[in-house]
Amino acid sequence: MKNLLGSTVKDLESIALKYGQAAFRGRQIYNWLYNYKNKKKNIDEIEVLPIEFRKKLKNDGYINGELSFKQKHLANDGTLKLLLSTTDNESIECVGIPTEKRLTACLSSQVGCPMDCKFCATGKEGLKRSLKVSEIIDQILFIENEMDRKVTNIVFMGMGEPLLNIDHLLMSIRSINKDFQISQRKITVSTVAIPKMISKLYEKSLEILGNCQFTLAISLHASNQAVREMIIPSARNYNIKNIIEDCREFVRKSGRRVSFEYLMLNGINDKLDHANELSILLKGFQCHVNLIQYNPIEEVEFKQTPTRILKSFQSRLFKNGVTVSFRQSRGLDKNAACGQLRQNAKNK
Ligand code: SF4
Repeated sequence: MKNLLGSTVKDLESIALKYGQAAFRGRQIYNWLYNYKNKKKNIDEIEVLPIEFRKKLKNDGYINGELSFKQKHLANDGTLKLLLSTTDNESIECVGIPTEKRLTACLSSQVGCPMDCKFCATGKEGLKRSLKVSEIIDQILFIENEMDRKVTNIVFMGMGEPLLNIDHLLMSIRSINKDFQISQRKITVSTVAIPKMISKLYEKSLEILGNCQFTLAISLHASNQAVREMIIPSARNYNIKNIIEDCREFVRKSGRRVSFEYLMLNGINDKLDHANELSILLKGFQCHVNLIQYNPIEEVEFKQTPTRILKSFQSRLFKNGVTVSFRQSRGLDKNAACGQLRQNAKNK
């Protein structure tokens, strides 16, 4: 099988020329490939191409994506979670989060995840493998096709640790930017943070994208090292103070703001002392803290912080001069937490 998804216009023009066709046929394939309305069609259904050419492409094993639809879950608030199968019989999740003006796609970068965060269903399964560029961008087409509208914003907050698949992450951002016409500023890369990888992300962005304009979001989830290690065991290799220092450096170099994700876990990291500690940690840093309400999962004993406590935590940060917002979890019903749909399908 030869997957056309992820190809540039130039690649497709070369293929057309190889088949004795005019170069513009390559652009026709390109326009067809990245149009979500064609997601469920096959390569021999590119109607603008001569029938013989279509047939040859199909017979020679060309395909338009390797993922296939497995399952979907639509929450009451319109959030759509998709379970997609890979050709090696693994499954990955992606989510479409709609508002009136935006459709945000939450994408996976790996099958499973090695980071073992204690609050996450995906972390329980460990890492199977990293996703290819075509598998990352195909998730966008599936979401657009199912929701019948264009994705406007991207967050890499699905399954996997994006910085452990950094080359494919950045090549996907290139494609999202060029092929899906979504500006880098509407793309957020979320990471638990891996030693030395924040500076590498900046350097590789310059190398692959020519600049570094996306938003970096750090899944901090704690105000000190001890709490962080308790909920994210992999954090023991990277002191929280060093993470903040590396983020300051990222901001200095890129000119972009960093945001810190803070998942509120009842009785674990949501006391006012934690809010004060976090304010000291981030003092003088032009950043943004995003408080997130926890989506409880069955096998884990963490509980959701009551909204009243969350609001006072938010007020304390605000009073201490930290820019903070509260993000209500979308799709807060059955199977809504990261990795849950995949795990339930496996259990069956
Ligand atoms: S929260 Fe993210 S980084 Fe942590 S285990 Fe889950 S998928 Fe991996």
